[in-house]
Amino acid sequence: MRVDELIANRTGPLFSVELWPPRSPAAEARLETALGELSRLRVDFASITYGAGGSTREHTHELVVRLRRDYGLLPVAHLVTAAHTREDLEAILERYTSQGIVNLLALRGDPPLESTGTLAPGELAHAIDLARLASEKYSMCVGVAAHPEGHPEAPGFEADMDRLAEKLEVADYAITQFFYTADRYARLRDALAKRGVDKPVLPGIMAPTSLSTLKRMAELSGASIPAGVASRLERYEDDPAGFQAEGTQIAIELCTDLLAMGVEGLHVFTMNQAATTVAIHEAVFGSQAG
Ligand code: FAD
Repeated sequence: MRVDELIANRTGPLFSVELWPPRSPAAEARLETALGELSRLRVDFASITYGAGGSTREHTHELVVRLRRDYGLLPVAHLVTAAHTREDLEAILERYTSQGIVNLLALRGDPPLESTGTLAPGELAHAIDLARLASEKYSMCVGVAAHPEGHPEAPGFEADMDRLAEKLEVADYAITQFFYTADRYARLRDALAKRGVDKPVLPGIMAPTSLSTLKRMAELSGASIPAGVASRLERYEDDPAGFQAEGTQIAIELCTDLLAMGVEGLHVFTMNQAATTVAIHEAVFGSQAG
């Protein structure tokens, strides 16, 4: 099953999750617990991240294969151009397709390969190059990243939307970076519509888990933290349980606004913890598994 077909044939909004490949026995145990809890929900697909620098090459592959085999989940494998030469990327795509994995999230990653040396002719510099390779040579269903506030390296929001529109000429759909007010998503959709692009864009949802993590991730991704959201969270700075409850509530309110706008689905960055994801699912879809 391809994600673009899932989106086209949906009878309601999709619900998908992002997971990290575990890299220690403790992380493995946490993921198993989370997967057990997530199996109570209707999860349309699960995307699996790829470590910058290629550090999770085998771990990502194993989790992609295991989620499908052991949990019956539809996996979407993340892959980054920054980590690899074209030859390596082709070998990875070859291996996936030979095992029946047809869904890819094509990303550039950080830092780009060219920042550690000169990019040789024929190497892939941007996510669009990987999207094209996976789509044209391997007939994969390809998703790409979208940045509701513009990518931090882009000269500006409109310039990044030009690049995103080009990516979506090649790719089948996009998943956004996290954001906290629905108007950010509306602005991105409007910018794409202005450029004649109407491919699906699934909003990425991240419930804040701690102020320091949120600030670090916002800085890295270029996402802003609205003053209203910051002040709601600051009240719980010394109360982790209260912080988590408020962060979950903020995410639920955002999901409710997005669903009212008619989004194709919600993609939740789980950080391999199920509690918040389960709470979001139950709040917006009820507690049924499917
Ligand atoms: P690109 O689309 O290549 O864009 C990067 C920059 O280059 C932008 O500023 C863009 O405007 C510009 N640009 C694009 N194309 C061109 C062009 N042809 N010419 C000139 N400039 C251009 N990172 C990981 O390492 N592993 C992951 O698993 C991962 N998963 C992610 C999942 C989601 C949903 C999102 C939103 C991000 C994820 N990231 C991941 C982070 C991502 O790799 C970074 O945000 C990265 O900095 C940009 O990736 P991109 O795919 O958007 O790059």
